Amino acid sequence: MSPTELGTDAAPPTGWVEPSPSPLLLLLGSKDDLTSERGVDCPGDLPAPSDPDLVRRATAAKEALGDRAFVLGHHYQRDEVVAFADVTGDSFKLAREAAARPNAEFVVFCGVHFMAESADILTADNQAVVLPDLAAGCSMADMAGKNQVDDAWQTLNDLGIAGNTIPVTYMNSSAAIKSFTGQHGGTICTSSNAKRSLEWAFSQGERVLFLPDQHLGRNTAVRDMGLGLDDCVVFDPRKPSGGLSADQLRNAKVILWRGHCSVHGRFTTQCVDEVRERIPGVNVLVHPECAYEVVSKADVVGSTEGIIRVLDEAEPGSSWAIGTELNLVKRLAQAHPDKTVTFLDRTVCYCSTMNRIDLPHFTWAMESLAAGRVVNQISVDAETAQWARVALDRMLALPA
Ligand code: SF4
Repeated sequence: MSPTELGTDAAPPTGWVEPSPSPLLLLLGSKDDLTSERGVDCPGDLPAPSDPDLVRRATAAKEALGDRAFVLGHHYQRDEVVAFADVTGDSFKLAREAAARPNAEFVVFCGVHFMAESADILTADNQAVVLPDLAAGCSMADMAGKNQVDDAWQTLNDLGIAGNTIPVTYMNSSAAIKSFTGQHGGTICTSSNAKRSLEWAFSQGERVLFLPDQHLGRNTAVRDMGLGLDDCVVFDPRKPSGGLSADQLRNAKVILWRGHCSVHGRFTTQCVDEVRERIPGVNVLVHPECAYEVVSKADVVGSTEGIIRVLDEAEPGSSWAIGTELNLVKRLAQAHPDKTVTFLDRTVCYCSTMNRIDLPHFTWAMESLAAGRVVNQISVDAETAQWARVALDRMLALPA
């Protein structure tokens, strides 16, 4: 019988006994505010959020591996996986942490594919970087394919402007695109140093090709560097010449690749208006991967590490609506019970690819390593790695 046939007043199925209340925290929201991230008491005798058997097996494998394995956990990762991380951080911090552990035979990267590639580029050849689920990609990184970027560069070449165009590529990109950037005189940037990277690029050439996140590029160029919105054009790789005329490309200061993060792209100006109405005095804190209009309405803009710092330093009793990945927002809410911390969007949205790394995959990867089998190794070929390293080193050489 369908729920509709049952109707709202239908009697419970035969044998159903309503469970007694449980203290488990499972759902989002508090009792009086279902949109907060503090959790509610769910009724019923519910199972533990993490399978205790898997927790036991993953713990045993990690203990067996000891210092041979170093586990990295991205800030957007699930709680049950982060619990096993030796260090947490954003993608760049994690890659550097991996590079600082030359004695670890295995670097188990609980993040997404491009992050594991960066770790492989920055670690020694005798270290294996493992991604517990190869399906953990990144929709933004996938929006800039190597062939597409080569074709775009050819378009600039044909117009005679490639020579004075400097590629600036966000960390959230494949190794192939980082390598392209190194080969063409460009640099990598993170969400914390995008302004410095653009300043450097403009000291090297007349215009910038910013890959692959149009929002970070636009926010940095317009909000942080004072360029006009009309100094930026958006290059759509699915259209001939990016859908732009020769004059549009020649006159642009910043050519923004048509890419975005599917998580941060969810936040809208309506979300900001709605939360301000709902929580008087709330501070809106967003990541620069959000759209320009959203960032313009926010009170504070910060990288992932920046958002964590702002919350750490915030006054007790203050209220924050945060526009970034939900796993991080939930943990921030738990870490700051003296502040009101809420998700900027009422609709729940995790980074689905990051969430591919779950406890079963993590346990499988750790047990395989403990048994002497290197699974899901991420290897960047030598030439790609060499040029990607050139671009990363240019970023590392930028003034602090
Ligand atoms: S949050 Fe966005 S940029 Fe980060 S891994 Fe997920 S899809 Fe990619």
